[in-house]
Amino acid sequence: MSDLSTQLIHHPYKPPAGFDAIPPGVYKASTIAFPTVEALRTRDWKHKTGYTYGLHGTPTTFTLEERIATLEGGRFCTLVPSGLAAVVLVGMALLKSGDEMLIPDNAYGPNKAFAQGELANWGITHRFYDPMNAADLTSKLTARTRLVWLEAPGSITLEFPDLPKLAAAVGAHADCHPAGIVTALDNTWGAGIAFNAFELGADISVHALTKYPSGGADVLMGSVVTRDEALHHLVHFCHMRVGYGVAGNDVELVLRGLPSMALRYAAQDSATRALAAWFQAQPQVEAVLHPALAGSPGHEVWKRDCSAAACLLSVVFKPGFAQPEVDGFCNRLKLFKLGYSWAGPMSLCAPYDISALRTVTAWPFKGGLVRFSVGLEALADLQADISQSLAGMHYSKG
Ligand SMILES: *Cc1c(COP(=O)(O)O)cnc(C)c1O
Repeated sequence: MSDLSTQLIHHPYKPPAGFDAIPPGVYKASTIAFPTVEALRTRDWKHKTGYTYGLHGTPTTFTLEERIATLEGGRFCTLVPSGLAAVVLVGMALLKSGDEMLIPDNAYGPNKAFAQGELANWGITHRFYDPMNAADLTSKLTARTRLVWLEAPGSITLEFPDLPKLAAAVGAHADCHPAGIVTALDNTWGAGIAFNAFELGADISVHALTKYPSGGADVLMGSVVTRDEALHHLVHFCHMRVGYGVAGNDVELVLRGLPSMALRYAAQDSATRALAAWFQAQPQVEAVLHPALAGSPGHEVWKRDCSAAACLLSVVFKPGFAQPEVDGFCNRLKLFKLGYSWAGPMSLCAPYDISALRTVTAWPFKGGLVRFSVGLEALADLQADISQSLAGMHYSKG
């Protein structure tokens, strides 16, 4: 080993043990060397007893998986490159041609798009159900139903469904499908803080770690958590076959966000509730949607099942304000940036046309809707920003 390059690659130095820093180490690898041929041949893909290949786990990813499982009250966790990838992984792991998946009518949009695109191409059908009506869900369960999605609250419109009731409806028919029916909850809003997904009846919890666990608006990641080991292995082996790895530096960012997550959640929760109550008093506003507000759909269920609420609220303007007025309101905001995602430090907003998103439920409002994600800025500054923009709105019809 006289060549310098070889010496720099095959360096004999090993740092001493005992480096006990506060943050966990960040390991990055494609190859992970096996000590012997025997160890290579008998590698364990199934349990986290050793390492096989960087795509399938490092000390850093195993650490985050354990923390997310703890956060959500589950036992097993699989990391994927985005929240959407977590949704997709569940579908790929569980469904085969001829199966059907049920999706709440107010679900996260890209979940629907995956069903309408790839799943349909693969011979897997889907139907939408009204999440505020367990009887509607029951009427749609058949011998082909393998996967039922739950989301609490609904994406953008924030209706809070009766999860135990929906899960019980599925449970009562679970033997319809030869392999049983699995319930999967998109737990991004609750984040493991507002409620326990498994206690409320979910078999699988998916989480966009992009949101609260990161908290920095600078990383995309998702997780799939289960309590049941057999279900975890279905997800885990599909994950291995499709190559959904996560990068060590991204995992580091999420590990860094987790210790402050509960504090950020609480701070954004109270600011969002204050803003929601304030919005209710504004003359331009027809309705404010936020599960902690009395009168918001599912409020009683939220009160029964949750101990907190996330940083989202939606505002429906009076129908006298035509869409260009609502768009102008969004454009004039200075602190609220226009854009997707949420739970980062900066406040965001985006207008939505809800009636275009609904399939089996009626949308009761005529006015434009804007969804707000409240960041970590001072509440008084956010209110002043909204006030200056509301003042520029004009009745344009009606
Ligand atoms: C953001 C989000 C996702 C997707 O997360 P990405 O990491 O952006 O892919 C899934 N579900 C919900 C409810 C979300 O808000």
